[in-house]
Amino acid sequence: MPHSSPPNRPEPGAHALVLVFGSKGKASAWTRDDGEVLQFGAEFSDATAELVKSHLSSTFVGLRLVLVGSEATVYAVRAVAISCGLIPEEISTAVLDLERSSEESETVWADPNTERRVFCGHCHVTMTAKANVGDAIRCIGCNLNLVVRYHFSRRYAAYLGSLIRL
Ligand SMILES: [Zn+2]
Repeated sequence: MPHSSPPNRPEPGAHALVLVFGSKGKASAWTRDDGEVLQFGAEFSDATAELVKSHLSSTFVGLRLVLVGSEATVYAVRAVAISCGLIPEEISTAVLDLERSSEESETVWADPNTERRVFCGHCHVTMTAKANVGDAIRCIGCNLNLVVRYHFSRRYAAYLGSLIRL
């Protein structure tokens, strides 16, 4: 079940810029008639970052930025937007690959093959890995085995990968 009531919908009257990463159909709940909707590819890349920066460079005070897409992409773009001078209160995120269990508040992943960004706490490299929280991955930077922690850094837009001590 997708979210039935989108959180943090833009305030009426504020100019909304909705950036959709991936399928536009999924994003219909977050788009508004008076908002500008731009569609990008589902995967985050340097080219995506440059496009987002160029759009945000022509924005003005009062913008409500809405990011719709996969967790990895949405938080990566959120970090780009903040680097462009937006404040967290101006940014709403709608993560489409997360689901909430109906019985507990614990987050369960909709797709175990979802790519996540992981920040290595040892060598400080950020990588993308198909891994769940609690899974072990090998760092592309220092080649050490890391466990993906639940701790999510908004600054790095990535989960913390910490060393597995045997
Ligand atoms: Zn590392």
